Amino acid sequence: MTAYYLTTPIFYVNAQPHMGHAYSTVVADAVCRYQRLLGKDVGFQTGTDEHGDKIVHAAADAEVSVKEYVDKISAMFKAAWPPLAIVPDTFVRTTDPAHMGVVQGVLQQVYDQGDIYFSEYTGLYCKGCEQFLTEKELVDGKCPDHLTEPAKISEQNYFFRMSKYQEWLIDHITKHPEFITPERYRNEVLSFLKEPLEDLCISRPTTRLTWGIPLPFDNRFVTYVWFDALINYLSGLDYPASPDFARYWPVAEHVIAKDILKPHAIYWPTMLKAMGIEPYQRLHVHGYWNMNETKMSKSLGNVVRPGELVAEFGADSVRYFLLREMSFGLDAGFSKEALMARHNSDLTNDLGNLFSRSLTMVKNFAASVVPQPCTPSAQDQELAEAALAMLGHYREHLDHFAFHRALSAVWEVISRANKYIVSTQPWELAKDPQQAAQLGTVLYTLLETLRLITLTLHPIMPETAAKMAEALGVAGETSLNDCGVWGRLMPGRAITPGAQLFPRLQQETKDKPQPPKNKTMNEPATEKTPSQKPAPEAEGLISFDAFQNLELRVAEIVAAEKIAKSDRLLKLTVKAPEERTIVAGIAQHYQPEELVGRQVIIVANLKPAKLMGVASHGMVLAAKEGDRLVLSAVSGPVANGSRVA
Ligand SMILES: [Zn+2]
Repeated sequence: MTAYYLTTPIFYVNAQPHMGHAYSTVVADAVCRYQRLLGKDVGFQTGTDEHGDKIVHAAADAEVSVKEYVDKISAMFKAAWPPLAIVPDTFVRTTDPAHMGVVQGVLQQVYDQGDIYFSEYTGLYCKGCEQFLTEKELVDGKCPDHLTEPAKISEQNYFFRMSKYQEWLIDHITKHPEFITPERYRNEVLSFLKEPLEDLCISRPTTRLTWGIPLPFDNRFVTYVWFDALINYLSGLDYPASPDFARYWPVAEHVIAKDILKPHAIYWPTMLKAMGIEPYQRLHVHGYWNMNETKMSKSLGNVVRPGELVAEFGADSVRYFLLREMSFGLDAGFSKEALMARHNSDLTNDLGNLFSRSLTMVKNFAASVVPQPCTPSAQDQELAEAALAMLGHYREHLDHFAFHRALSAVWEVISRANKYIVSTQPWELAKDPQQAAQLGTVLYTLLETLRLITLTLHPIMPETAAKMAEALGVAGETSLNDCGVWGRLMPGRAITPGAQLFPRLQQETKDKPQPPKNKTMNEPATEKTPSQKPAPEAEGLISFDAFQNLELRVAEIVAAEKIAKSDRLLKLTVKAPEERTIVAGIAQHYQPEELVGRQVIIVANLKPAKLMGVASHGMVLAAKEGDRLVLSAVSGPVANGSRVA
């Protein structure tokens, strides 16, 4: 069996999972699922990067031990993937003893052969940060956090002789056009390699940093960053002796975001070369998701939490959007409006309608049984050929990570099939017994087209595809080679109509007002159109839009504590479903210990505010009756983060 191995980067645990992380991981999951449809033996690896001074500082800010801190954030990453239907086979943590052992083994080997040496490192050091900063990190020559100029200092450190492998690397990239893809990143790397490559500083003295892997040949130093992190791709395969390494490394590919191109395209292959290991097969580099033209990151306030989106749109809808909207390699804009629009038009309208119309017709006109096709007309033939051709395009595009193209090819067939229903008019054919054979052929053609569409959706929207396959009576038939042919559906087999694939979601934008749902008999029968001006609002009443702007969510309290010097305030940690801190004025009404485990309703989109020095992100709703205060609740358990409307 041919093997396939794909990794995401290991994510740095100085922040909670955000959309950028989710994108890399959805991409890897979709590709791994696709490779499984091709019948390959697939391994899929992700994990967390947990060493370095930034982690030490983040733990200090959070007032917990470094170990507690990395355990907590790493667990958040691990927990973030199942709700997105992401199923990794291996999750590496760089603080795992097994990983640390592999790193030390590699260091010793490369040191023994003379490719690691001791020398002087000169860099720009910020005393406030207690770390070296790169030129790129400075703003107007100053540390952006401390607004002071870093000092140029020198210290003794160990270096990896990277320069030695520069010519080899240029040659390798030149001879392997797909080694770094898309091509723009390959060109970027080749142009960088026109300058002489410097050796790589790979250590930090323990006088400054102890949270790292000790160098096996000098315990006054710990390993610095890349010589630790990159080796996860080997330690995840239990390098060097395991059969997994022998099986998967020769076919290994990596997915990364463009900010870590240099370490993956230059440091990593030269490290592997020094170790005497063949480099990875392909490096797939993607761009950033932008919001308001800025890169999404935790330092800016514009973080969209993947869990929130899943609670609102469902995993499949989010996966589809991420893969359809971004052209792999380029940046793309993210907005909830765009996600909503794709959900409603591509999924609910195009795919959902095709599926439910077709199956309803088979139910009504063919007693829910796959009909016997007869000689196809030109129209039937055309749709069948388009569906088969689509499979070819789909494979070609997915092989090259062109998800948006693959999906656009699938949706072209969906749109053709919808038009085919309009032009063949099966409901008219059903009226005339003479046309029974023709009707059977039309319905069969629709079912076969849907079956092939379903096949392509397994990697992209696993839950939806499983539902469709179930309804079509082809659950578990997912081999692209065996099932990607026309005419596999056996006449006489039962189908199960009725499944709704996607609920239609309401627009929430200000400029598209929704008519109120509960009309009374007194209201005029005509619907308000968006172009009409809304009626002047009565005093004290808010519009439906204004209400919709309020983001109410169900949140579970997972921790609660008193805030020192305040007899009124409690600091709550809630999951909605991402964790956030909310300060609530309920200390006189509730003991912290009775709150944990409760689900309450919060205002999730309130501007953050500081109360007694604690930043509060939202507000917990409670009812007030005289001096009494009673927390809001939902009447039954519901997923954290669910919208309240
Ligand atoms: Zn600083």
